[in-house]
Amino acid sequence: MIDFELTEEHKILRDSVRQWAEGVKDRIVELDRKHETDPEILYDMGRQGFLGICIPEKYGGAGMDYISLAILCEELERVDTSLRVPISVHVGLNSLTLLQWANEEQKQKYLIPQAEGKKLAAFGLTEPNAGSDAKNIQTTAVKEGDYYIINGSKAWISLGDTADHIIIFARTGPKELGHKSISAFIIERGYKGFSSQKIKGKLGVRAGDTSMMYFHDMAVPAENLLGEEGEGFKIAMSALDNGRYTVGAGSVGLAKAAMDEAINYAKTRIAFGKPIAEFQLIQQKIAYMVRGIESAELLIWKAGWMKNKGYRNTKETSLAKWHATDIAMEVADMALQIFGAYGYSDEYPIERFFRNARGARIYEGTAEIHQLIQASYALGYRKDKPLRKELPPWPFPDDV
Ligand SMILES: Cc1cc2nc3c(=O)[nH]c(=O)nc-3n(C[C@H](O)[C@H](O)[C@H](O)COP(=O)(O)OP(=O)(O)OC[C@H]3O[C@@H](n4cnc5c(N)ncnc54)[C@H](O)[C@@H]3O)c2cc1C
Repeated sequence: MIDFELTEEHKILRDSVRQWAEGVKDRIVELDRKHETDPEILYDMGRQGFLGICIPEKYGGAGMDYISLAILCEELERVDTSLRVPISVHVGLNSLTLLQWANEEQKQKYLIPQAEGKKLAAFGLTEPNAGSDAKNIQTTAVKEGDYYIINGSKAWISLGDTADHIIIFARTGPKELGHKSISAFIIERGYKGFSSQKIKGKLGVRAGDTSMMYFHDMAVPAENLLGEEGEGFKIAMSALDNGRYTVGAGSVGLAKAAMDEAINYAKTRIAFGKPIAEFQLIQQKIAYMVRGIESAELLIWKAGWMKNKGYRNTKETSLAKWHATDIAMEVADMALQIFGAYGYSDEYPIERFFRNARGARIYEGTAEIHQLIQASYALGYRKDKPLRKELPPWPFPDDV
């Protein structure tokens, strides 16, 4: 059965997140202008329960479903992308990955404080010389007694200068083994040999922390290996199935907000003696916005429905993320055009939406990588293999 009706719980969540996000809007706009971040906003998100949204209650979360996760992301990114990014990395890429792959001790130690919002989490895969080609990472982890000694660096890590816990990926074997020598680790900011530095001068997500991370002879306890040695690449890809979903859902929110602004403006801006909304070329833009947003939302909901069912959704999530992020960019661009010169100034939020939409076509799989994924599924060159650990259907059973 397919059901497009939101539950009462979903509606309450949507309204309360919208209210909270509207409440921090002025602060976020100010931070964006100054290129500054404020971790207190993230801790407040934790107090609101956002950081444990779909993590089971037994691990400190709110126990909600994947559609709730999409609603949360959509509502946050209606206000600003830097409010949605923490959900993508903390919940999508990190906490859900721990839920899927961590052992019970790791869940107790790391997942619970993350879901309770007491500790912030991030995900470090990209390196200065390995982005799309993630199999090519160069960070190394050498086992010495009860520790792995990690050396290397990570680039462009969201919350990289803020998060307390980070899932990182490093090579535990020869590079010739490709993805089979990549392993995943849970690390803590306080480890000796860890350092980070914010990246300055970004086009978008200016109120968010995007950072470099450096590991210099960083000793990580062997029990912090996530999954098995050599399983890191599979763990990273499964994490992206959740992260990409949150990026796509957030992009729908950004697109809706840009369209709302454009509609309001078009109805009040007078040119040639009438509101510009009455010109058919403006209406055409609004029609394209509606079509794009509706189709993007449907793809997100389909992916969310599959997640709730416990079905593998790599293909569907990739398609939803690719489409939604392209649509957000197109809608922001059309909205800016409707605003004319005013869209080009920070007097209105459109230029911020335009800058923020651009990044989502790069992170969590570039638009090109998603096209390769879709083509390779369609051509039969790519098939999903079962993973050693899969998340069960929602609601998660007690022994998840
Ligand atoms: C704001 C922001 C936040 C980020 N947050 C995180 C994070 O939290 N964690 C993390 O690990 N990473 C993060 N990233 C990094 C992001 O995931 C990478 O930037 C992305 O994977 C692309 O890698 P790259 O920038 O090295 O580009 P490259 O991989 O070098 O690609 C450059 C260009 O070549 C194209 N290209 C590459 N390979 C192919 C191919 N086979 N066929 C066709 N075209 C190709 C790409 O699509 C792109 O257009 C973030 C990036 C940004 C901008």
